[in-house]
Amino acid sequence: MRQQLDVQQVNGLRSTLRDRAGKLREEIRATLQKSDSEQYAQIANEVRDLEDESFADLIVDVNLAEIDRDLEELRAVEDALRRIAEGSYGRCDECGLVIEAHRLQATPSATRCFDCQTTFERTHYQLRGHTL
Ligand SMILES: [Zn+2]
Repeated sequence: MRQQLDVQQVNGLRSTLRDRAGKLREEIRATLQKSDSEQYAQIANEVRDLEDESFADLIVDVNLAEIDRDLEELRAVEDALRRIAEGSYGRCDECGLVIEAHRLQATPSATRCFDCQTTFERTHYQLRGHTL
């Protein structure tokens, strides 16, 4: 039987996720401001005072490789926060079982349990291998 996170642990992860989201937004904004594009610099100004949800929406038009990784993580982090709010946090997207508590502690934005993640990565890399 997998150990499920208790309320206190979820609350702890929620503040970790919020901190992380804030840092990522800050990084993305800084990168936009540093870019040569006037348009991106303007977006960076616009998103400064936005609510969390609108941030990713505005950024969606930005096509800048430097922020791809941050943006991807930000989406995962925001998704985890949404799932916490909805009460569906900590369930595996694939098999519906509880995601191992130690896995969530290590990767709070995880959406798959360890087994499903392993299978996913194997399939994913195999598929990518076929297209090459
Ligand atoms: Zn699973």
